[in-house]
Amino acid sequence: MNKKRVGVLALQGAVEKHMEMLKRAGADISLIRKSEHLEGIDACVIPGGESTTIGKLLVRNNLFKPLKQRIEEGLPVFGTCAGMILLAKDIQQYDQPRFQALDVEVQRNAYGRQVESFEADLSVAVCGEPVVRAVFIRAPLITRIGKTVTVLASFEGSPVLVRQNNILAGSFHPELTDDPRIHQYFISMIP
Ligand code: GLN
Repeated sequence: MNKKRVGVLALQGAVEKHMEMLKRAGADISLIRKSEHLEGIDACVIPGGESTTIGKLLVRNNLFKPLKQRIEEGLPVFGTCAGMILLAKDIQQYDQPRFQALDVEVQRNAYGRQVESFEADLSVAVCGEPVVRAVFIRAPLITRIGKTVTVLASFEGSPVLVRQNNILAGSFHPELTDDPRIHQYFISMIP
């Protein structure tokens, strides 16, 4: 089987750890900084970072429209934390550039009021046993979820890993542990 090429959006944020994980999960990697870099990729990761900054840079680098179009055409995309915010249809209180491809509403920084970051064990059926250790860093909370969105993992009653067709999104940072299973699952979504 041909190796899949995953482009990691590399405008700002947690890029390198995703690259390491994707390589471990068996993918070829390229970095996406401008629209030409979208050619030849089979999937895309939108990393964590600061969603307002990534959104502005997407627009400034003329990447927003072509990437939105690729996502709408079915490009498998995995957004983590800020990446999930950028994929969300609605964001509470903020009107910032976003792809509006995933039928959820999110509240930014909603887990991070008392503690900036924390870890939790999640049951993720698509990853099997054992549980997945998840690192949350000023993470977005999903406050509404559309009917066609599947919940793959929850924490304290709220979805934290969801899928809608070609789109996978997590509130946490699966690239920061030593466990490639979520990246492997994402690669398995590539047709
Ligand atoms: N708080 C950031 C935002 O709102 C997301 C944090 C992260 O990606 N770790 O964009």
